[in-house]
Amino acid sequence: MVTEQETVYALAFGAHPDDVELSCGATLLKIMDEGRNVAVCDLTRGEMGTLGTQETREAEGSQAAKVMGYSERLRLDLGDSCIRSDRDALEQVISVIRRLRPRVVFTNPPDERHPDHAKASRLVSEAVFYAGLKKLSTNWEGTEQTPHRPAHLLHYMQYRHFEPSLIVDVSKTFERSRKGVLAFASQFYREGLTDRPETLIQRREFLSGLEARARYLGEQIGVLYGEGFSLPGPLGVSDFTAFFSEK
Ligand SMILES: [Zn+2]
Repeated sequence: MVTEQETVYALAFGAHPDDVELSCGATLLKIMDEGRNVAVCDLTRGEMGTLGTQETREAEGSQAAKVMGYSERLRLDLGDSCIRSDRDALEQVISVIRRLRPRVVFTNPPDERHPDHAKASRLVSEAVFYAGLKKLSTNWEGTEQTPHRPAHLLHYMQYRHFEPSLIVDVSKTFERSRKGVLAFASQFYREGLTDRPETLIQRREFLSGLEARARYLGEQIGVLYGEGFSLPGPLGVSDFTAFFSEK
């Protein structure tokens, strides 16, 4: 549990309860392995998902948080299938950013098959900027919050492939990240359950497809597994030799 005074290094937002684990779970584990705190915030309860009830998905999200080792998993209720980007929604996301004060924020990509993903991407991108405005006041449980603008915003890769700005070597954490993904058991194919509706994520091949992409991305940088990200702008390099110290 993160207290009011503490901060996390990374905060990962997802439109739906399993977005983060499916897209950047291995990178989050890598960050935690390097001794930094990570928190996750689901923007909706996933109540419009074809598979699993809201209660099931909430329990699965808690289980995923436990096996992954997050400092905290927060849940907003911005409306599955109708994520708003009005003032109220924006202030809720800003409040989460100002409470956890991350250096790095992860969120959905801007161009996606599921409209919620694109809407979430825009909402979080706007909140990351507005969270730094001194005259925009928000509060958390009645206490006035101080402004905070995260230093970096990264979009993770979901359904649509894009040319990544950077690929993280997740060879040591990819297998472990599967535990976080499999915590969302209601979403995936299971042998013997023949009456389930055919959804993209529910296909027998879905999880092996994810692994194939991680292998492909890893191949691009000469490692076993990789996760790809895009940046909304150029990445500044101050310590050149530290940045390019790896092979
Ligand atoms: Zn989603």
